[in-house]
Amino acid sequence: MIRFEDVSVVYDGAAKPAIRGVDLTVPEGELALLVGPSGVGKSTLLNAVCGLVPHFTGGTLRGRVTVDGRDTRTHPPRELADAVGTVGQDPLAHFVTDTVEDELAYGMESLGLPRDTMRRRVEETLDLLGLTELRDRPIASLSGGQQQRVAIGSVLTPHPRVLVLDEPTSALDPAAAEEVLAVLQRLVHDLGTTVLLAEHRLERVVQYADQVIVLPSPGAAPTAGAPADMMAV
Ligand code: ADP
Ligand code: ADP
Repeated sequence: MIRFEDVSVVYDGAAKPAIRGVDLTVPEGELALLVGPSGVGKSTLLNAVCGLVPHFTGGTLRGRVTVDGRDTRTHPPRELADAVGTVGQDPLAHFVTDTVEDELAYGMESLGLPRDTMRRRVEETLDLLGLTELRDRPIASLSGGQQQRVAIGSVLTPHPRVLVLDEPTSALDPAAAEEVLAVLQRLVHDLGTTVLLAEHRLERVVQYADQVIVLPSPGAAPTAGAPADMMAV
């Protein structure tokens, strides 16, 4: 579960908060969609979930953010690595190894898991994401949709309860975007993962959402509701 209680973030030197008065809850096993125009604070909000805000970006966070029961103020990103996985727009920015299989294993390396557990989790994740045939391929040789599935796989092998994605389909063609969204839906339904997804193409993803959170303008409090209600606004 993700919870924000009256959260505001002010970056150093900024005149106004990037987000202000944010209260929201994404219950365990739900997919929440975060929408709003550029510059309203979507990335700030997502970065507050994984603790990058405020531990790495500077600035001040007021209020409280808890992820899977852990307060991000007292748990910096390295202590949240097994609780929350993060994927951005550009999968290439994410990769640290050459092949699909190595990339899936890499995310677990700092967790001190036994070898056979790591091996099993790589197999499970290859299977879950439909990547088994591609396991030995250089990542650079894959399509955009395949690369984005590898990026998601690499953050899944630590078995995070929460997954945060910042416009993961924005660089993809419609078919590849559908591949990625189908994977997210499977994660929520089959594994009970909690997903927070920022997107600007609402029509593409709203059918998958349990909740839509709208950031209307910079520094304004978000409104949240069921997809059907939010579409009517
Ligand atoms: P969005 O993702 O909706 O485009 P952001 O969260 O990236 O919005 O940005 C919200 C505001 O915070 C913008 O005015 C942006 O310039 C500012 N901002 C974002 N990151 C930083 C940072 N690390 N330091 C200072 N200002 C930032
Ligand atoms: P191990 O540490 O040996 O892998 P776990 O109990 O952590 O054992 O994982 C096994 C269970 O985790 C299986 O029931 C499987 O369905 C589930 N699982 C697989 N992938 C994930 C995931 N990404 N997040 C959470 N649970 C997962």
